[in-house]
This record gives sequence, C-alpha cells and structure tokens, in this order.
Amino acid sequence: MIEGIVYKSTGSWYAVKTKDNLTYSCRLKGKFRLKGIKNTNPVAVGDKVKFKLEETADETIGVIQEIAPRHNYIIRKSVNLSKQTHIIAANIDLALLVITLNNPPTFTTFIDRFLVTAEAYHIPVILLFNKVDTYSETEKDEIRYLMALYREIGYTCMPISAKTGFNVDKLKLAMKDKTCLFSGHSGVGKSTIINNLDADLTLKTAEISQQHLQGQHTTTFAEMYDLPFGARIIDTPGIKGFGIVEIEKQELGNYFPEFFNKKQDCKFNNCLHLNEPKCAVKDALENDEIAWSRYKSYLQILEGEEENYRTDIYKN
Ligand code: GDP
Ligand code: ZN
Repeated sequence: MIEGIVYKSTGSWYAVKTKDNLTYSCRLKGKFRLKGIKNTNPVAVGDKVKFKLEETADETIGVIQEIAPRHNYIIRKSVNLSKQTHIIAANIDLALLVITLNNPPTFTTFIDRFLVTAEAYHIPVILLFNKVDTYSETEKDEIRYLMALYREIGYTCMPISAKTGFNVDKLKLAMKDKTCLFSGHSGVGKSTIINNLDADLTLKTAEISQQHLQGQHTTTFAEMYDLPFGARIIDTPGIKGFGIVEIEKQELGNYFPEFFNKKQDCKFNNCLHLNEPKCAVKDALENDEIAWSRYKSYLQILEGEEENYRTDIYKN
C-alpha cells in the first residue's frame, strides 16, 4: 500500500501526497462511509493515510484503506440547529496566532480562549505580534507587556512585521518541518505573512478568499500547502480561531498552565478558584503572580457565555 498525507479534502475525494511528492486523487473505501460517525467527515486535511491504486478504463485512482490515529485535530461545530461536527484539520504541529493591537484589536480574552483550546487539543502555539512597524512607543510598551505576560506562562512570543520582513526568517525557522496553522482576526495580516513566506502562494490564497466571499453558503474546505523552506501550512478559509471543545468546569483550570501549577496548593482539590477558602490561585492573583486579564478570561469561559464563544470563533 502507498502512504501519504491528505492535502485537500472536498468531502467526496481527497488529494493525497506521498513522500516522493506525487499527488494522487483518492476516494474512500466503502467501509469508512458506512462506519464513519454520523455528521463527521472520516478523513481530514493532515491525515496520514494508506491507499491502494485502482485502474479504471480511463483513470487511476487511489482508494484509502487506512487512516493513522491522529495526534490532534480541530473541529468546527455548526452554529445552526443541526449541531454537525466537521473535522477541519488533523495532525497540526504548530498553531500561529496572529495578534495586532489595533486595526483590528485583538483582546486578551480572545488570545486566552485560543490558548485554552490549543492546550485542550495539545497543539503548541506561537503568538505572533504583527505590524510592529506601525506602533507608537506607548503601543510598543503594551506589546512588550503582553509578550512578557505570555512568555512568563511559557508561550513563545514573536514580534514581526509582514510589511518590513522583520523576524520573518526567525518565523521560518520555527515553522521548519512542521504542519502549521495560522489563526487570528480578519485583517491582522495572515495572508500578508503567508505571502511573505512564499511569494508563489499569493495566487492560491487570493483565490481562496475570493471563493469565500462569493460562496457564503457553500462549505469551505481546508487545504494544505508545502512551503519551499520545508514547512506545510493549512489554510482554513473563514476560520479565525479553533473550534470549541467541550471543557468541563473542573477541567478548565488545567488549561491555564500558571493556574495548573498552583492548583495542588488549593485547599480543595476540586477548587474552581472562585470563592473557595485557601485558594492558591486567588492568592497568586493577589500577589501579582497571575495576571488579572488571565483570571478574567478564565471567569468568562467558566461562567458560560458559551454561545458568544461559539460565535466569536466561527464568525469571520
Ligand atoms: P488577513 O485578513 O489576516 O489575511 O490580513 P491581510 O494579510 O489581508 O492584511 C490586512 C491588512 O494589513 C493589509 O492591508 C496588509 O497590507 C496590512 N498588513 C499586514 N501585515 C502588516 C504589517 O506587518 N505592517 C503593516 N503596516 N501592515 C500590514
Ligand atoms: Zn483554587
């Protein structure tokens, strides 16, 4: 059998690329369609698959026989009543969240929700603070503050400018040999950064965003591209963040690494860090060891606003 990675999925056929850089058009063996969980696409971009070639009168197609277990995957849940789940992409090595202070503003609550989801999906993150060429001294201070805050927790932060090319080489180094996913609000510079990484990709991303504008109701599919310096990027049109994961209230604190570090010192092992006595997280907050903005995000996620969260994530 031939091994490959799914680079494109339309729901009925898949483009699968082998180690030798050959791309095959593949279909699914019938059993997956029967066995597949209702509402869920059995194969997604990023999936590692094994397939057999079948010759028909006028073409050769691949028939996918096996799908390797996924390291992680991200899903999109429809906001309408059907509550369908759709796997957008699988086996992501690195998520890059593009952040700008203004034009458009990226709030810490958005960053924190993204990070919680990334923690829950086990996807490493780099926070990219883009458009640094445009900032005033005061704004630069704010960026420094945010970078210090997130670095302290353990997240990699990188100031960049897609316009001047500042730190783009550093970004390439961090992406090398990885399957990467860019996220962030519309207008933060995702396409500009990607074009900066590979000029040849300009056309493709432009095509996709146009398609997206035209076909508001058609489903958009993710697609993966090879970059010349040895990275892959997954383009997910119309998705600015990750899908939502169902997180239990009890679990949520585990996805804030700096809370998790303190948790064992809370008096109650099921402490939600709200008004419980002898809460190590609240103590750390009072001592400025935990940032208020992080605690605020925690409360916001904990206290529901789930519908908002969903809209936040899926609205383009
Ligand atoms: P996307 O929606 O995230 O893909 O954002 P775009 O890549 O379309 O960028 C939105 C706008 O921001 C465009 O006008 C870009 O030229 C501009 N832009 C992107 N990156 C930078 C940057 O680093 N510096 C400056 N000054 N402008 C940028
Ligand atoms: Zn506590």
